[in-house]
Amino acid sequence: MLQTEPQGALDHGAMSPIFPCRGCGTFIERSTQHYRRVKGQVLCSTCLDAQAVSKSTLAQRLLGILTRLNLLVGRAAEG
Ligand SMILES: [Zn+2]
Repeated sequence: MLQTEPQGALDHGAMSPIFPCRGCGTFIERSTQHYRRVKGQVLCSTCLDAQAVSKSTLAQRLLGILTRLNLLVGRAAEG
């Protein structure tokens, strides 16, 4: 009788489920509790770091958007 490849490598069984990262799509192991806490927005550590960086500059980005809107409104008023 031929021995086939041992099964179990892909069988996740009772371990934490795997979710695709919302940022880059990488499959990561997270608990269902974590999944619920982040409301399905599961992020890998790389994307979490990137998010932390983008959060710190959110005010600057908003300011940039507001400035751009101001320019557009100003142009519309002129035209
Ligand atoms: Zn990611």
